[in-house]
Amino acid sequence: MIYADNAATTRMSKTAIAAMLPFLDEIYGNPSSLYSAGQKAKEALEGARQTIARLIGALPNEILFTSGGSEGDNQAILSAAAIGKKQGKTHIISDTIEHHAVLHTLKKLEKEGFEVTYLPAHENGIVRPQELEDAIRDDTCLVTVMYANNEIGTIQPIRELGAICRSHGVLFHTDAVQAVGHIPVNVKDDNVDLLCASAHKFHGPKGVGFLYAKRGVRLQNLIEGGAQERGLRAGTENVGGIVAMAAALQEAVDGREENAKKLTALRDRLIEGLSEIEHSALNGDAEQRLPSNVSFCFEGIEGESLLLLLDDLGVSASSGSACTSGSLDPSHVLLAIGRIHDVAHGSLRLSLGEDATTADVDEIVRCTKQVVAHLRSFSPVWRDLCSGKGNFIL
Ligand SMILES: *Cc1c(COP(=O)(O)O)cnc(C)c1O
Repeated sequence: MIYADNAATTRMSKTAIAAMLPFLDEIYGNPSSLYSAGQKAKEALEGARQTIARLIGALPNEILFTSGGSEGDNQAILSAAAIGKKQGKTHIISDTIEHHAVLHTLKKLEKEGFEVTYLPAHENGIVRPQELEDAIRDDTCLVTVMYANNEIGTIQPIRELGAICRSHGVLFHTDAVQAVGHIPVNVKDDNVDLLCASAHKFHGPKGVGFLYAKRGVRLQNLIEGGAQERGLRAGTENVGGIVAMAAALQEAVDGREENAKKLTALRDRLIEGLSEIEHSALNGDAEQRLPSNVSFCFEGIEGESLLLLLDDLGVSASSGSACTSGSLDPSHVLLAIGRIHDVAHGSLRLSLGEDATTADVDEIVRCTKQVVAHLRSFSPVWRDLCSGKGNFIL
């Protein structure tokens, strides 16, 4: 099997598993307990906090452990909104290609009276700093723009966006779930106030992540209860998961440069191979994208069938489109970058892992060519396009 869906989740690394195991077995104390078994767990927890803080340029007490990216996005955005509301500021700026953890939280705030401006991501999938500058108002309390997109892999100019926010005194949050461990991230250099990440996107375990909040930015807790995490996130800590996350991040950062170089070459080979399929196009900027991400649209086919047939051939991929109970809506990201409905339906997202090989890439290209040709051979849409009843777009 070739697993090419690392943007959805990754396999835990051997290092992360080894780091986690003792905490599922002999070191099972509750970090809040005062006896030595508890204190051992507490030490490991605080060690993990220091490691993670160091790896992103933060201070240990600026790191809060969460259950993952969704929780981090919710807590960051709701906290910034609460700060804003106290000051009578209820305008938020985001963009059209955010993850649903951000978009749905913003929808909730809109219902509560906040106003949200969604910056366009343009055809290349990248937000323009000047458009952020122009959108900031006196009552803007938060800007939230993701570091890298989970569907089309585009990387936003975070440093520039952060500098603009800072010069206007507006809080800046970034969903860095696809970036942390994959591209350089440093909260100080990047001028961010709030940032969230998730362990299972960088070979750590599922159900654990962290939220960075710059000193002085007051977080609101989503979960009431005990005094864990300085009273900002109640509940007994996922010690093993947190320790494994720190180990996975250390490993990812140590290997980052080498992996990125290798992946970029494989990515570009994959893009080149898929470009040979007629009436197809790469989604998102060709340069400013994650080393692992390839996103394509193929005209005249339907992405879901493409995935199922690729799976039969041993390739795990994603369409990048949200398939919600019964209704097959095309991805909001592809629509936002200007793909029309029919074209957006024929999408394919491939996200390579660090262990991918040239042979894997060539096999993915071979399988995709075969499946696209097969699906087109009985697609009424394709027949119409070929007979001139419709116009090719790609
Ligand atoms: C995966 C992902 C999330 C959600 O993270 P979870 O840990 O699964 O909750 C949020 N944002 C982006 C960009 C993601 O890729």
